Amino acid sequence: MIIIKTPDELAAMRVAAKKTATILHKVAGKVAPGVTTKELDEYAAELALKEEGRCAFYGYHGFSGHICSSVNEEVVHGVPGRRVIRNGDVVSIDFGLVFGGFVGDTATTVAVGEIDPKWKQLLDTTQECLAAAIGKAVEGNRLSDISNAVQVVAEGAGFSVVRDFVGHGIGREMHEDPQIPNYGPPGRGPVLKAGMTFAIEPMINLGVHKTQTLKDGWTVVTQDRLPSAHFEHTIAVGREEAEILTIPDFDS
Ligand code: MG
Repeated sequence: MIIIKTPDELAAMRVAAKKTATILHKVAGKVAPGVTTKELDEYAAELALKEEGRCAFYGYHGFSGHICSSVNEEVVHGVPGRRVIRNGDVVSIDFGLVFGGFVGDTATTVAVGEIDPKWKQLLDTTQECLAAAIGKAVEGNRLSDISNAVQVVAEGAGFSVVRDFVGHGIGREMHEDPQIPNYGPPGRGPVLKAGMTFAIEPMINLGVHKTQTLKDGWTVVTQDRLPSAHFEHTIAVGREEAEILTIPDFDS
């Protein structure tokens, strides 16, 4: 069942999502050569504590990080640790925060220094995928219009769409109905209504779409070890247009 949020619930989600996005923005700003993913994780934990929020990923099915940090060939769910970030890397950071009973979930991929132009194109395209998908999150459209928008943009640019992981409804729970794949034909699935809240998160690969999970049980990598990019926003479906909830407070 897809939960339609009341105006009060949407107001609470706006607050949680803005805090989530602000923390992600600050953590992303710390990404630099020589920094470990563990240091990024500790910074996120410190910021969440200051905001009196709870990191949504920490302890989730036993996950040990406050963020997911996924470098280069790592797609999602990278466990923060000793990996040192280098010039030329692309670093995905995914962060979820619970505040006031609601969850915000957002991700970005940061280019470190000078990156391969093809990798830069991958990052730009993944952002375009997310924007196109959000553009379809309007009352009256069907759920798979969102999915299709991602696939069209990604494959149009010569990249591939990860199938094994999907976006999701979000609200009081991090994962609510529905699941939101990033591929498929348009015009299928539930009709969208204003007040539905989704975490839309294209994961796009430079090479093949297939993934593998490493022995740590978490870190997902591309099968061909070519890079992957991941951008995510928590949004509310609107009557005329979607509202992006995970916009950072750039002044804080
Ligand atoms: Mg998510």
